[in-house]
Amino acid sequence: MENTTQIKPSKCIKDFSYEELKSFIQEIGEPAYRADQIYTDIYSNRRNSFDEFKTIPLNLRNKLSEEFILNSITNHHAQYSSDGTIKFLFDYANGSSVESVMIPKSDEEYEDTMKRMTLCVSSQVGCALDCSFCATGKLKFTRNLTAGEIIDQVLNVERISNIKISNIVFMGMGEPLMNLDNVLKAIDILTNQKAMIISRKRITISTSGIIPKMNELAEVKPPIKLAVSLHATTQDLRKEIMPIAQKWDLSSLRAACENYYRKTKIPVTFEYILFDGINNTDYDANRLAKFVRAFPSKINIIQFHDISFTNPVPQKVDLSPASMEQIDKFVDKLRSLGVNAFLRTSSGFDIDAACGQLAFSKKNDETDNGKSGLIK
Ligand code: SAH
Ligand code: SF4
Repeated sequence: MENTTQIKPSKCIKDFSYEELKSFIQEIGEPAYRADQIYTDIYSNRRNSFDEFKTIPLNLRNKLSEEFILNSITNHHAQYSSDGTIKFLFDYANGSSVESVMIPKSDEEYEDTMKRMTLCVSSQVGCALDCSFCATGKLKFTRNLTAGEIIDQVLNVERISNIKISNIVFMGMGEPLMNLDNVLKAIDILTNQKAMIISRKRITISTSGIIPKMNELAEVKPPIKLAVSLHATTQDLRKEIMPIAQKWDLSSLRAACENYYRKTKIPVTFEYILFDGINNTDYDANRLAKFVRAFPSKINIIQFHDISFTNPVPQKVDLSPASMEQIDKFVDKLRSLGVNAFLRTSSGFDIDAACGQLAFSKKNDETDNGKSGLIK
């Protein structure tokens, strides 16, 4: 008996760079300009189905829908914080889920009055690096996201919220430098002249310090802003709370940061979570100042978001949040040492939308304090 079951395509058309799409189009005997039209329909016109690609002849539209999916995200759930932050849980066609967070306010270091809308995107499903303070790390690693899956977080957030994203930070789930090829491909597409979704200057990649990949990223042109999660000023403590530090120590991390600045001329941002009594002494401030002073940089001091909801196994170092008073004092101390230090205020606290908390919301819906609901 003939099998009439339709096999659903699994490749997302957004996984193609413009050049790749053009080659594909030519390989199937179509003129190259069709690639431009398809790109325009996907990224400028933001069509929701191949049927809406009106400039494309029907036979090619049919071919595209047989071969590709247009949107890699099959379902979403949004949670709204009282401060305007929106957290999205996105399900992909193949069963994985990630979170993205839209943060409407500007951090204090940005003097521009333009209203910024930052999207914190995920690069992996889970994370293998298991930092002791991070909820995503507790999920373990499932897989890398494809370029199309990363791009779809941005396009779906814009579509659902009807708000234009002005900045993208790779500070969601996962370690972007462990998925560098797909992250760079997504950035190339998002910043492509034809797609015109976002300016490259408004994208930041955050890393826990994967040294060879930092060096590779330093060679990428045009360069991309880099944030480095430091969180400790001694090798002993960093090793304890960030297992990746067992592989690369603080001095090699500093050398890689310095190299990044020398190659790109973009100041490196350091992220430093303040833990009560663990990394907030005057000695820490002095060491931190010394660490970042060798090249232009700035430090974001971050409030620790408790992740006890993940039931982490007890660690050697017991981590709890520093008080606001301690944080202010630490920032002042750094400033008195001539360091460009800023407090990164917390967004979406009431919906667990902060960095490092992206992991368990789906399971914890019933405990969420924010307004929550499925929106289409
Ligand atoms: N893997 C990358 C990017 C994702 S994590 C990295 O580690 O940099 C994004 C930021 O959230 C990092 O600075 C990370 O250290 C921070 N973070 C993780 N867990 C946190 C928590 N519980 N509270 C506050 N910040 C956290
Ligand atoms: Fe991974 Fe970053 Fe979380 Fe560490 S802080 S476990 S590197 S996502």
